[in-house]
Amino acid sequence: MKIDNIDSYLREKDVKPSYQRTKIFQYILDNHNHPTVNQIYEALTDKIPTLSKTTVYNTLNLFIEKKLVEIITIEGNEARYDIYNPNDHAHFKCQLCKNLFDIHLDFSKMSLKELEDYKINEQHIHFIGICPECAKKQI
Ligand SMILES: [Zn+2]
Ligand SMILES: [Zn+2]
Repeated sequence: MKIDNIDSYLREKDVKPSYQRTKIFQYILDNHNHPTVNQIYEALTDKIPTLSKTTVYNTLNLFIEKKLVEIITIEGNEARYDIYNPNDHAHFKCQLCKNLFDIHLDFSKMSLKELEDYKINEQHIHFIGICPECAKKQI
């Protein structure tokens, strides 16, 4: 997803673009590795000495509420964050390198007969296994 002006994008979504919010959003946008709260905090704390983990956490919750960011929980209570992407995609979590990969998946092409009478507000699909890189190393 390409966003030219983060300030106006945040405003569009009804979020006041403070310096910290802009930086946190920028980080998730630039680092498409699905960072955790800790990774975001560690990466930004040098540049923003006033930043606290609570601020990162609260900002992410606001972003989730405003559909700027989505939270991905695949295993246990490990929460990772991703730019909210209306073009649905699934995730693949590698059990060896712990990376989280985006898998392009057109949800509209899936046959969901059993869901016909349900109103879907959110859909999350994820796979867990071994990624191609790690599979190569195992041989
Ligand atoms: Zn892997
Ligand atoms: Zn993703």
